[in-house]
This record gives sequence, C-alpha cells and structure tokens, in this order.
Amino acid sequence: MLQQTQVATVIDYYNRWMQKWPTLQALAQASLEEVNELWAGLGYYSRGKRLQEAARKVVSELDGRMPRTAEDLQKLLPGVGRYTAGAIASISYGQATGVVDGNVIRVLCRLRCIGADSSSPAVTDRLWDMANALVDRSRPGDFNQALMELGATVCVPKAPLCGECPVKQHCQARRRVEKELAFASRKLFGKPNPVPDVEDCGVGGCPLCPPAEEPWDSSLGVTNFPRKAAKKQPRTARTATCVLERRGCHGALEYLIVQRPSSGLLAGLWEFPSLPLAQGLREEKQREMLADHLGWPVTAGALRLLGEVVHVFSHIHQTYVVYSLPLDEDVTLDPALSPSRWVTEEEFHASAVSTAMKKVLKAREKQRGEDSSPGKGSKRKRGAKPQGASSTHPKTQLSLRTFLRAPTVP
Ligand code: SF4
Repeated sequence: MLQQTQVATVIDYYNRWMQKWPTLQALAQASLEEVNELWAGLGYYSRGKRLQEAARKVVSELDGRMPRTAEDLQKLLPGVGRYTAGAIASISYGQATGVVDGNVIRVLCRLRCIGADSSSPAVTDRLWDMANALVDRSRPGDFNQALMELGATVCVPKAPLCGECPVKQHCQARRRVEKELAFASRKLFGKPNPVPDVEDCGVGGCPLCPPAEEPWDSSLGVTNFPRKAAKKQPRTARTATCVLERRGCHGALEYLIVQRPSSGLLAGLWEFPSLPLAQGLREEKQREMLADHLGWPVTAGALRLLGEVVHVFSHIHQTYVVYSLPLDEDVTLDPALSPSRWVTEEEFHASAVSTAMKKVLKAREKQRGEDSSPGKGSKRKRGAKPQGASSTHPKTQLSLRTFLRAPTVP
C-alpha cells in the first residue's frame, strides 16, 4: 500500500484491510471484487490484485509458508519486486539484505555525490551494491528502516537538515558544499585556490558523476543530488461516459454501472458505461458515437452534455466527456455480457469504483443541484417523461447489449 502512497493516506486502508483479512489464508479466500472495494480510492489497483494473488499462491502452492529470502520472495510471488522483497526479508525474517527506495536513493546519492540519472542501470546497480554492503548484519531490518527514515525526515528532498544529520561526517555532498564555501572565502581575500581533489573531478565519462552538460550548481548545495531524467509526460486520452439514472422501486435514485475487464487498467472496477474516443472529435460526433454505443433507440439529442471531468492516472491524463440520461423504462440486462447493476448513491460509494468515477458522479450531482435551484430551469417531477429517452418507443424493453460490451482499455 505504501508504494507510491503516503503513510497518512494508507493508515485507514491498512487497518480496514487487516481487520477484514488478518491472515494469508483469509486473504486467499477473498474475491477480486472484495479487494477492489476495499482498495477503492487508493489508486494503483494492480497492487491489491497482486497482493491477493500472492496470498493465494502461498496458500495453494507453497503449503501456506511465505518464502523467507529476498531472492525467493521476488522469484515466487507476483507483485513482489526487488525493494519489497528486500524489505520483507530484512524486516520480517532478519536476512542481511539491503533496500533501495526513493528515500534511500536520495541519501546514498548525496553521501557519495552520485549525480548521474538515478534511474539509470549503472546508478541503480551501484546503489543496490552500496545498500547490500552497508546493511547491518545483526539488525538488518532496523538498519534498513533507519536509512529510509533518515531520507524521509532529515535528508529530505528540498531543505535537508544537514546540521542535525547523524551521518554528516561521512557525506561527500556536504563536504563539497563546505569546500565551495572555503573556496569562495579564499577568493574574497585574494588567495589562490588549491588543486581540486581527485574525488571532485567528475570528468572522464564516469557513469556515476553528473553529466558534463549539467555540472554542479552552487546555488543548490547538497540538493544537486540525486538527479533524475526528465519525467515522461503522461499520454492524453478522452473517454465519453454516460450517467444513466432511474428511480428505483422505493423512489430512490439509482445509477447503472458496468464492470471493466479483469485485466488491464482499473481491472475489475465498476464504472459508468464508457467509450474511448479518438482525439479531435467534434462534440456532435462524440454524442452520436456514444448514443450508438448505447445500442437502443435513443437519439443522440437525448444525451445531455454535462461537461468534462479530468483525472490524472500515473501515466494517463484522462478526460471524461460526461453525459447524463434519465430513464423511466425497464432495462433488460443480458447476463452473458459484462456484469452490470443498478446502485443507489450509497451503494455506488461502497462499490469498487475509481476516484475518477466518483468525480463524474459529483459532476452529475452538481448539475442536478443547479437544475433544481430557483431560476435555473425547471425541476422535473418524479415519474415525468425524461427528455428524449425512448420517447419514440414507449413499450420497448431497452437492450444494453452493445452498451455492455467490454470497453477497450483507454
Ligand atoms: Fe543528507 Fe545532509 Fe545528511 Fe548528507 S549531511 S546525508 S545531504 S542530510
């Protein structure tokens, strides 16, 4: 849970998770649906899925026994990479093996003035070698946690607390800053500077030194390290999505949600029926395609455009073009197609839906609020004919066959 997510966000999820599945055996029996429901809102959903798959594997293939070394953990369990394997093996089983996470990268790069791209293979290998060499043989778990904590609380990204740092006497970045200050002071008093230390040279194509085109920047001090390659921009994607709603048998508003495929982005999560769009389509065309995708006799004009909702996933800048469509007909759902169900607002929030879909619902609720406020259009009476919905086929049972085809991954 803590990969890519802050502790404060995780605590509540962690407590609920441990309450529900206190053992590997209990987790192995959970369904993906239950896992997604509990994980909803935490993002990076494949983590929960893999955690559950790993529990199943331990129970069904490994006699209920967790692998105990970093090598076996990484080799045998889905979703366990080098860092997770090292953390579990050292903290839980006392194996003298290092860990390298974002905090450790920062500390080690500063300790050793490593200024090349910290995600490059040469630097990554060097950092792992250092972590494995440094780890305390008798208390590896404590050592690794201390190193990560040092990066999280003292050697922080923007304003590290070097004066309070317990390893400052070993830190080459700090030494370099002190030298720079000494040089500046000598210059002020007209004294010549000594020949640079061989450790400072950084020339000769060393794969760990700062690249020649990005030399040491005095104004940054120790925060010259670490350095990362420019982040890849997330790709942009557009999706038309439709909030279909009706009054349920007790008069409560209900929404239709469908389940995504069990693999790919947001696997197994529920969403409003959606259709990926090509870039640059005109609004009328989008509307037509969505109406066509719905697959029943509704004209494109029946769909009401709410606006756009933007959600940024880790690697996708996703824009949802949101439409709404109130219904008062029975809808026939074909059980052979993607699972679908009608849910109340409360049920919607308790379901495995992404944060993006919660934003879409919020947009619809905002629109409803604006519609019903005085002077902003008329409020439709319960039971009145919704605008455009099936008005040409009042007796027709609506088919969602096309609608519920598994959507392609955006
Ligand atoms: Fe980080 Fe400063 Fe400590 Fe060096 S002295 S490890 S830069 S906090």
